[in-house]
Amino acid sequence: MKVKDFELGIKYRKAMAIVAEGLVSPNGVTGQYYVISQSGNGRYLAATRSTFPPAGRCNCPDFKKRGGPCKHVLAAEIYEQAPANAQALARHHNISLDVLENRLVVDLAIGVRDQNTANALMVLLDGCRRLKAAGQ
Ligand SMILES: [Zn+2]
Repeated sequence: MKVKDFELGIKYRKAMAIVAEGLVSPNGVTGQYYVISQSGNGRYLAATRSTFPPAGRCNCPDFKKRGGPCKHVLAAEIYEQAPANAQALARHHNISLDVLENRLVVDLAIGVRDQNTANALMVLLDGCRRLKAAGQ
């Protein structure tokens, strides 16, 4: 297991929670999003990795200290890639949120998923989470 991949998996879990809590909003510039701090430190400006390769960009302490992508960059990417049809897809496949989430974290941890696949799964997860929140 690669430690870095495992850490990325953990960050994805945190990023999912950020998106699910509605803390991400667009700032009007393509690829850039405001992400409200979960620890009460105001909001950060996060840019996706496709906008600022290879690690994205964020003005949070974690990014400054350890580099990216931080959970805010990942949350921005999930938000950007979560289209309405992700919900329809999730409904169609009737995928259990917990099963999918656990599988994704494990897959990232053992390195069997690349980042693009992980991103696609994140979109699906977000759809599942919204469905669950809507009681469907
Ligand atoms: Zn950040």
